[in-house]
Amino acid sequence: MADVAVVGGGISGIACARSLADAGFTVDVIDRGQRLGGRLAVQTLRDTGTACDGRVVDVGAAYLTVSDPAFAAVVDDWVDRGTARPWTDTFHVADGTGLLGTKLGPMRYAAPRGLRSLVEDLAVELPSDLVSIAHPMDVDSVIVGPNGVDIADTTYRAVALCGPDPQMRSLLHADTKARDVLAAAPMWEPVIALTAVYDKRTWADLDAAFVNDDPVLSFVADDGRRRGDDAPVLVAHSTPILAAGHLADPVTAAPLMLGALERIVAGSEPAWFSVKRWTYARPARARDDLCFFDGAVGLAGDAWAGRPRTEAAWLSGTALGRRMAEALTA
Ligand SMILES: Cc1cc2nc3c(=O)[nH]c(=O)nc-3n(C[C@H](O)[C@H](O)[C@H](O)COP(=O)(O)OP(=O)(O)OC[C@H]3O[C@@H](n4cnc5c(N)ncnc54)[C@H](O)[C@@H]3O)c2cc1C
Repeated sequence: MADVAVVGGGISGIACARSLADAGFTVDVIDRGQRLGGRLAVQTLRDTGTACDGRVVDVGAAYLTVSDPAFAAVVDDWVDRGTARPWTDTFHVADGTGLLGTKLGPMRYAAPRGLRSLVEDLAVELPSDLVSIAHPMDVDSVIVGPNGVDIADTTYRAVALCGPDPQMRSLLHADTKARDVLAAAPMWEPVIALTAVYDKRTWADLDAAFVNDDPVLSFVADDGRRRGDDAPVLVAHSTPILAAGHLADPVTAAPLMLGALERIVAGSEPAWFSVKRWTYARPARARDDLCFFDGAVGLAGDAWAGRPRTEAAWLSGTALGRRMAEALTA
């Protein structure tokens, strides 16, 4: 039996497992996905009728930014090994009628094999004598008792719940401090991501565009530029309000999103498209604390550590693993 279960094989869960293993604890990471990575998600293109079949597209997070020195060291290592790449510090800004200009910001990092490959890289580095990873495996309840925490038929000393608050809250049935914390969670916003594949590039030279004041789109990325192969692929993110109205049947958002994409960036219709629904894409804000641990249940993810970003998820998971290791050692 492992000491700790980590529910969630996104970047926060894998970072948490890393900290626990560094302190000598045994860990079972459990994730319901076919692949690890959570919202650092990619889709492999198939049957598009274009030359892009077989190529992967980032359909979750659009990029990483870096401000913390510890996360910077992780990203620098990825860049040195070619796993991640500095993408751009210059995005366009647009409104509902088209592109307006450019805006300088922080360096945005992308990954040639898609952002999910970064989480898979962290997972491969975990010591196999201490950490086992089970997926796809759906956890449906976490029961906190006097002797530990039960998940399926296994009792652990503690559990780390690493992912969106609403998903993790649904696992805790009895009254616990962690459930109360999750009940007071920030609001989570939905997004529908539309992948559009073209026969050739027909749009202006850009990396990505923040779309302001448009009811349909909030962001458009040139996935070919992001990943460095110049494939004619755009990924558009809806506004949360548009997504909220189409969550039951996300493909019904496609005509509106395609119309806005053609008007604002693309200038033509794609040869193929698909949509991906994110019911819990990101929290509207993040708590300032790095994480939470009540002695049995720990919480981490991008709703912690100050800013709702991938970097925060890594910082939060890393901090939770350390806090649990300290508490379980004492
Ligand atoms: C459309 C979109 C755009 C984004 N853009 C950006 C961006 O540009 N920059 C940025 O920094 N961040 C962005 N983000 C946010 C970024 O993706 C997240 O901050 C980060 O991936 C969070 O990682 P996490 O490990 O906390 O959660 P997740 O990646 O959500 O991982 C949680 C994991 O838990 C698993 N899980 C959930 N329930 C269960 C269960 N019952 N049993 C087993 N497993 C379970 C899931 O399968 C998932 O793998 C974006 C996200 C989305 C969706």
